[in-house]
Amino acid sequence: MSTDILSLIEAARQGNWLPLVEAAKGAPGKHWAESARCANQDVNLFVPSGDGPRADPDSVKNKLGLSLNRPRNLCSSCPVAVAARCLMESLKDDDEFGIRGGLLASERSALRRAWQERVNDNAVESALRGCTAALNKVDRDAVIARFATDPSLDATAVARGLGVRHEYLLKLARRYRKSQASQRTNHLRAVADAV
Ligand code: SF4
Repeated sequence: MSTDILSLIEAARQGNWLPLVEAAKGAPGKHWAESARCANQDVNLFVPSGDGPRADPDSVKNKLGLSLNRPRNLCSSCPVAVAARCLMESLKDDDEFGIRGGLLASERSALRRAWQERVNDNAVESALRGCTAALNKVDRDAVIARFATDPSLDATAVARGLGVRHEYLLKLARRYRKSQASQRTNHLRAVADAV
């Protein structure tokens, strides 16, 4: 695979989705796939048998061997913006099967999970300012964690952003701080036991 798309994927794996998201914007419009290297190729090449979301990627690669070279070489020479868009579309649609952005379905599983579980920073910041935003569980937890650890935040605004009562927000913050303290204690005990 090209180093460029590989570095975008690696950043996403580390939790930094911005480079991949921004690169995908370079292949705008609904006709982006016309510039893809797989355009007019046999679609079966990109859905190798034995590969799937629950398969072990190393076993798939060992089993399929050289037959993967052709699709992966095509992906390698795909324009980076198109490969990034290809991968982003698969993540947004939660496509489980097929090679996308040069990654086998089995290689994409962890990235799909990370995409679903990522924190939406914009939504979190909006909620902290008191604006209602679509928040998933991960986002809500991030808002509570920020509120519990940042005394400068306005409780009334954050409660409004989360859509909860002021008292309940304070309770959530106390619960968060307690769980953090308990984790720290457990960690210190584990360290003390190990020495
Ligand atoms: S990266 Fe996506 S669009 Fe490009 S060749 Fe591979 S499967 Fe096709």
